[in-house]
Amino acid sequence: MTVATFDDVVGQSAAARGLRETLAADRLGHALLLVGPRGVGQEDLVAALAAALNCPDATDGQGCGTCATCTRIARASHPAVVTFRPEGANHLVDSVREEWIPTASRTLVDGRRRVCRVVEADRMNESTQNAFLKVLEEPPPSTIWVLETTTVAPLLDTILSRCRRIDLTAWSTADLAVRARDLGVDDDRVPALVRAAQGSPDRLAEFTQVECPTCGLVRGGAGMDPSELPRTCDNTKCKGRSEGQGPVLETGLVRARHLGVVTRLRIEGPIAVGAVAAEVLAWADARATAEEQRQAAEVERLNESFGERGWPPGMRTRLKARHHREQRQVRLEAINRFLEEFGLHLRDLVAMSSGGDPADVVNLDADHLAEDAAAVPVPTALAALAEIPAIQEAVVVNSAQPQLQLERLLLPVAVAVFASTRAA
Ligand SMILES: [Zn+2]
Ligand SMILES: [Zn+2]
Repeated sequence: MTVATFDDVVGQSAAARGLRETLAADRLGHALLLVGPRGVGQEDLVAALAAALNCPDATDGQGCGTCATCTRIARASHPAVVTFRPEGANHLVDSVREEWIPTASRTLVDGRRRVCRVVEADRMNESTQNAFLKVLEEPPPSTIWVLETTTVAPLLDTILSRCRRIDLTAWSTADLAVRARDLGVDDDRVPALVRAAQGSPDRLAEFTQVECPTCGLVRGGAGMDPSELPRTCDNTKCKGRSEGQGPVLETGLVRARHLGVVTRLRIEGPIAVGAVAAEVLAWADARATAEEQRQAAEVERLNESFGERGWPPGMRTRLKARHHREQRQVRLEAINRFLEEFGLHLRDLVAMSSGGDPADVVNLDADHLAEDAAAVPVPTALAALAEIPAIQEAVVVNSAQPQLQLERLLLPVAVAVFASTRAA
């Protein structure tokens, strides 16, 4: 669930207020540029914007928040909001020509204004940006573009000059603490999770996701009402199924598993490296499976928007190909995510063993923090940290075999930890 009114947007009150005033004064224009860290409320702002533009009872620059239109927008099931994500490492020029422009030009069956959201707009190369520029220069009257980016550097001036820029910021500790309680986090765990979230409500929401301990299926996270989460694994292929019922899902397993890698290498030795890498990849596959469900919902919305048989020519084929690439992308991002988490953990261990300020430690609540710090020699941790960007590049950009790349990272750590533990 997202919000449906600007008043309900948490963490970005300045941006929400500014957008609302712009709408009330009818000065919106055809394109917005949201600049700021990923996952700090972009989705909520887009939903509030779409509701303001489509709610039949909109007043004073925002939707009513309660009518059928507002509710469907908040549930991400209204065709007025369309999201374009990078396919593979980049947004493709073909996607712009064959999907973005036809979608934006199409008459809306349901609603008045369409909001087309471009996630990670900085991942458009120059030719993609030039193709996109055409639609910005002659915008279809019913479409508003929202470009989301962490940095404006890769974007052409000709694009920037056509967008109204809105700056977003990382969330405050206070806002994150409120969100943590909304997500059902126990009071005693709130400070640690808020610290580990590092200003990102999406990251915080991920910590509250539920996961199947057997097959690694992940449910919940950003935008999901915790009370709507399933209690048991609904993966029909799950090996833990018995009498038609999947295993009970648990919270916080993903983070615990990522933070537990060093402990595991310390206890099980270098022999565990292959298994650890395989588990990371199985988790990444489970992420891709969750993405399939989101895609099925997208097909549903397009059916509503165009009618089962009314899709623009070739769009269904393209969508299928895009979904395939998106799943690959989700898997790669999950691997990347592990690498980031592992890197943060190594940095924490270095901070601990060099007598650093505990305030610098991100995951202060990790189990066995002191033992792990004692076991990982600082030069080994630093060498592994230096290796992470090359591995990210190899896996994400060059499609190197992830299992081998993860082993390449973990093995030296495992060997050093094993040696130092034996010496102690
Ligand atoms: Zn409404
Ligand atoms: Zn399962």
